[in-house]
Amino acid sequence: MPSPIYLDHAATTPVRPEVVAAMTPFFGPRFGNPSSIHRWGREARAALDEARSRVARCLGAHTDEICFTSCGTEGDNFAILGAWRTARQRGRRAVVTSGIEHKAVLGAVHQAALEGAEERMLSVDARGSVDRGSFGELVRDDAAICSVMWVNNEIGTIQDIPELAHTAHARGVTFHTDAVQAFGKIAIDASRQPFDLLTVSGHKVGAPKGIGALYIRRGTPLEPLLHGGAQDAGRRPGTENVAFAVGFACAAELATAERDAECARLVRLRDALETALMARIPDAVVHGRGGPRAPHILNISVPGTDSESMLMALDLAGVAASSGSACQSGSVSPSHVLAAIGVAPDLAAAAVRMSLGALTTDDDVVRVAALFPALAEKARRLSGTRA
Ligand code: PLP
Repeated sequence: MPSPIYLDHAATTPVRPEVVAAMTPFFGPRFGNPSSIHRWGREARAALDEARSRVARCLGAHTDEICFTSCGTEGDNFAILGAWRTARQRGRRAVVTSGIEHKAVLGAVHQAALEGAEERMLSVDARGSVDRGSFGELVRDDAAICSVMWVNNEIGTIQDIPELAHTAHARGVTFHTDAVQAFGKIAIDASRQPFDLLTVSGHKVGAPKGIGALYIRRGTPLEPLLHGGAQDAGRRPGTENVAFAVGFACAAELATAERDAECARLVRLRDALETALMARIPDAVVHGRGGPRAPHILNISVPGTDSESMLMALDLAGVAASSGSACQSGSVSPSHVLAAIGVAPDLAAAAVRMSLGALTTDDDVVRVAALFPALAEKARRLSGTRA
């Protein structure tokens, strides 16, 4: 029986052994609470401070600009709701985003709208790039915050975040980017790129699920989401997760150090898979193709098939893929991202996202390139019979 193939790295990644080793002492003798004044506390505080400065270095940030969070979803919510709730007091009442954002952003924007914000949606083109005209029109001096993701999690589109942030600043608008899929793939440098807020998440780069960080540029006003103690200078009350912060710092450093070589490897593998599939299924459609695209995502629809049958057939053949974001898999509902870029509903309903990463090998690509077309052909025949 051949070994199973994991092509769902955009959903989550395996925890790296180096990360487990770095975290382990904090589940044992180094269990202290960083707020305690005794030696256990001081030791935990030192580990937390060091983790914060290591993550900061990976993002070109100052140490005090890193706020550890429980996940990317929390970072997105904190950025958008925190900025909105502060700026509304100054009369800025609009929240601007795009229709291809992760639900963590769209949900936070929706909450802001319930609290009285005016929700503005940027147009995107067929490849998922934000339309500059629409950006110029909607990001005005009455906006509280604008949030545009760096790399899309379903189709991989890369936005020109430095340019968008620059334009937003010219209008005095706070700019947030969800960099959950960009971290480890794109060079992020807060000392040179003018975003104000940036979200990252540990489990996409080899740390465990349950840790992330929000970069908060010095001087960016942000109302806390949580209320309570004085941890993290009151920005995020709650006893800090020292072990996971240490693990995240370790994973972040490895991902940053390996970024260029790993991206080159993933582009080669992704392109080989895409070329092989397109050669064997000429009417297949690769979403987001032709524009700037992150190296790890391949989202493909075969006309006449449906995502659910394809994912089940792939799973039976030992291949783990997804239809889009993990929150939607399990119940394969139509993708709001594909709808936003204008993909016809029947084609969107056939989308399969394969996302490559640390576990992906040349052999995986050869095997998937061989079996995917046969499964697609069978799915087409079956749906033809049903029609
Ligand atoms: N933003 C993007 C682009 C993502 O891909 C994800 C997770 O899939 C998130 C936010 C949410 O991150 P987390 O799972 O850490 O809450």
